[in-house]
Amino acid sequence: MLSEFELVRRYFGRAAPSALLGVGDDAAIVRPTPGAELAFATDLLLEGRHFRPHDDPRALGHKALAVNLSDMAAMGARPRWALLAIALPEADEAWLAAFAEGLYALAARFGVDLVGGDTTRGPRTLCVAILGEVPAGEALRRAGARPGDDVWVSGELGGAALALARPSEADADAARRLAAPEPRVALGERLRGLASSAIDVSDGFAQDLGHILAASGVRARVRYEALPRHAALERPGVDEALRRRCVLAGGDDYELVFTAAPAARAAIEDVGRALGVRLSRVGTIEIGAPQLAIVDARGAPIEPPRGFDHFAA
Ligand code: ADP
Ligand code: MG
Repeated sequence: MLSEFELVRRYFGRAAPSALLGVGDDAAIVRPTPGAELAFATDLLLEGRHFRPHDDPRALGHKALAVNLSDMAAMGARPRWALLAIALPEADEAWLAAFAEGLYALAARFGVDLVGGDTTRGPRTLCVAILGEVPAGEALRRAGARPGDDVWVSGELGGAALALARPSEADADAARRLAAPEPRVALGERLRGLASSAIDVSDGFAQDLGHILAASGVRARVRYEALPRHAALERPGVDEALRRRCVLAGGDDYELVFTAAPAARAAIEDVGRALGVRLSRVGTIEIGAPQLAIVDARGAPIEPPRGFDHFAA
């Protein structure tokens, strides 16, 4: 039977060239880039709540890191170093090898080094913490949206939610968005100096934009028809109620929602073209108490379904 230390060495002990000290001591040591501010985030994935026991371990390794990279993207930060705290019911080597493969593959693509963590026996739990850098004063915050700003969304919404709610209707792309989302890190970095606020869509568009409105003390008007929806939502088996729920309240897409002054439109469109990422202008920030008005093509209000909340009744 694999010991805890052997497990860590074998599966999570790869070299971390960007750290002064990586896995193997009591703590990792890194040297931040001079002038950079540090952005920290962590996300916890629990078996039974965020993933199922038989989910592909490679995709889980990807997702555990991806959700944290998405938080860096939403801050406009460059992700640099990660920690992995993991609880496992047993040292299943096939599972561990695949999980580590998924995690390291994504980390390599974004230049992130795994520099430490913790390992314990218990119900399967995956917790990555991430440390990123952003030039001083340039982080994208939730507070910062101003009346007159445009509201933008990257990519398409609702694919991951469809894959969760109605797997039989989801195409391969929607299924991939749920299992192994692609964090919008490059976009987040390019939005520094252009966006006035940003958030990633983890709990549903309406709810997550609501966080920007609350933090910024403004209201927003969004055109439902302008929201970019995942192609699988156009399938005949998907009715309008499900489509709306996926687009407005579906979590797990990890797209970015951001606001920017109209003067930045051309520059933002250039960024979208340069990165090959669809960027859609979907509404406007207005003066008023934090509230989101979503309207249909005729201007009639649409009541947004509730987004995800772990503690909602
Ligand atoms: P300590 O008892 O001081 O917390 P551990 O024995 O838990 O040390 O960990 C030993 C080393 O292995 C540390 O450098 C720690 O960061 C690293 N480590 C433990 N678990 C993991 C993991 N799942 N992924 C990456 N590094 C890990
Ligand atoms: Mg420890």
